[in-house]
Amino acid sequence: MLARPGLPSFDYIRASTAQEVVRLLKEHGEGARLMMGGTDLLVRMRQGDVRPKIVVDVKHLPGMSEILYEEGAGLTIGAAATMNQVAKHPAVRAHYPLLAEAANSVASYQVRNRATVGGNLCNASPCADTTPAILALEGRLVLYGPNGERELPAKEFFLGPGQTALQPGEFLTAMRFPQLPSGSAGKYLKLGRSKAGDLSLVGVAIFGFPDETTSSGYRFRIVLGSVAPVVLRALEAEQVLASQPPGDETFALAAQRAMEAATPIDDVRGSAVYQKAMVRTLTLRGLRDVWEQLAGRKE
Ligand SMILES: Cc1cc2nc3c(=O)[nH]c(=O)nc-3n(C[C@H](O)[C@H](O)[C@H](O)COP(=O)(O)OP(=O)(O)OC[C@H]3O[C@@H](n4cnc5c(N)ncnc54)[C@H](O)[C@@H]3O)c2cc1C
Repeated sequence: MLARPGLPSFDYIRASTAQEVVRLLKEHGEGARLMMGGTDLLVRMRQGDVRPKIVVDVKHLPGMSEILYEEGAGLTIGAAATMNQVAKHPAVRAHYPLLAEAANSVASYQVRNRATVGGNLCNASPCADTTPAILALEGRLVLYGPNGERELPAKEFFLGPGQTALQPGEFLTAMRFPQLPSGSAGKYLKLGRSKAGDLSLVGVAIFGFPDETTSSGYRFRIVLGSVAPVVLRALEAEQVLASQPPGDETFALAAQRAMEAATPIDDVRGSAVYQKAMVRTLTLRGLRDVWEQLAGRKE
C-alpha cells in the first residue's frame, strides 16, 4: 500500500492529569487515541489503519518518564521513558542489563529517542523487542483507569496481536520490576532482515540465576518473540534446564523444546520453517552466553 501524503486531520490534546486522560477516553471512546512517542500511532494513522478524532498525548503527565531504582524494592520505569533513556540509565544497565539490551535493539538511535517502552507494550505487536525481556524479568504493569490504579503481571496483558487487557478508560502509566536474584544473567538475541534497525523475525530473551530448589541448581526463563500471536514463555524448555545439569547437551535439548513451542506463520519477512529453526539457534546461542556469564560470576 502506498503511504498517504500526510496525516488525516485530528485534534491534539496534551493531557496534564491522569483523571483528564480517563475522562477523555470515556467521552470519546474509539474516537480517541493515546500517544507517547507516536512511532507506531502516527504511522498507522498515516496509513489510514486508525482514524482518531482526538489524539491525547500522555507523555508529559507527572512521573511518566521517570526511572527509579531502589535496592530491595526494584525498578520502576514510567511508561513514557524512551528506549534510549532506558538503555542508557545507569541503574538499568547495572541491575537489569537484559532490559537495557532489549531497548537498545529497537530500530535506530533516532527512533529510540522517540519510541517509548510503554508504547512498545501497548502496541501489543508479537514482534515488540522489549516484551520478551519484560516477561523474562517478570515485570508488572501499572494501569490507571476509572477505578484508580491496578497492577497486572505483564504476561497477562497480551491477549493477541494488537489486543491488550486494558479496560475502557484505562491506560498504562508504568512498568515495575522486582529486585532480581543475586548472580543472575540475561541475554536478548534478535534476528531481523537487516542489522540497520529492522523489526524482529525472531526475538529470544533468556534470563538465568542460581536456584537451590531445582535439581540443576539453576532456573532459566526463556521468552520468544515474533513466533506466535503473543510473546510466549517456552515453559518446557525451562523445565529441561531446571531438571538436568547445565551443559551443551541440556542446552541443545532446551533449544529444541523452545523451537517446538514456537508457532510462527509464513509471512513476507520469513517462512515459518526458517523462524522455527532460528528459535533453536538463537536459544542455544543465548543459553551458552547466559551460562558463561553465570559460570563467570560463580568463580
Ligand atoms: C522506522 C521504525 C522502526 C521500528 N523498529 C522497531 C523495532 O526494531 N522493534 C520494535 O519493537 N518496534 C519497532 N518499531 C515500532 C515502534 O517504534 C515501537 O513499538 C515503539 O516502542 C512504540 O512506542 P511509542 O511511544 O512511539 O508508541 P505510540 O506510537 O505513541 O503508541 C503505540 C500504541 O500504544 C497506544 N498508547 C500509547 N500510549 C499509551 C498508554 N500510556 N496507555 C495505553 N495505550 C497507549 C497508542 O494509542 C498506540 O496504539 C519501529 C517503528 C518505526 C517507525
